[in-house]
Amino acid sequence: MPELATTEFWKDLKPIAQVFQPDALPEAYIANAPTEDERYYVPFTDTVSSRPLWISPSQNKWCDILMAKSAGLVNRHYHPHEVFAYTISGKWGYLEHDWTATAGDFVYETPGEGHTLVAYAHRDPMKVFFIVKGPLVWLDEDGNANGYFDVHNYIAMCKGHYEAVGIGAAYIESLFR
Ligand code: FE
Repeated sequence: MPELATTEFWKDLKPIAQVFQPDALPEAYIANAPTEDERYYVPFTDTVSSRPLWISPSQNKWCDILMAKSAGLVNRHYHPHEVFAYTISGKWGYLEHDWTATAGDFVYETPGEGHTLVAYAHRDPMKVFFIVKGPLVWLDEDGNANGYFDVHNYIAMCKGHYEAVGIGAAYIESLFR
């Protein structure tokens, strides 16, 4: 039950009795997703980190808050699948596109696209809500594939960091759906 209604017109509505199908997984609620508690941000590159919010191993997909405290870089990579992004704060873009995103801006990156993510120096940290379907395929200077990063790498990276900062690796599994 959420907060009780006071004067809202729906205050006498009853919630559905059977919420979940027997085989359904629970919903997820994370307060203050773009938290200022830096322990939750897992270093991804030297300058950019990620707070995991939702992870689907079976879909090779995850949601996170990507964060850079100042100028940042996620070097060139290719996406065989789509990426959605919503900008919470800061300023960022891709070297390959002609727009620059700031708070409130939405981005869709189409399946079959390579790009280089950059965060600008800004009074606010770059915080962007991303929905990523893996893998990222790392590219060399000539645009040839030379490595990958998928949900399994993401899980291992997050578990290692959360264990190290005292949150505990098990927290990551609580995000699995
Ligand atoms: Fe990308």
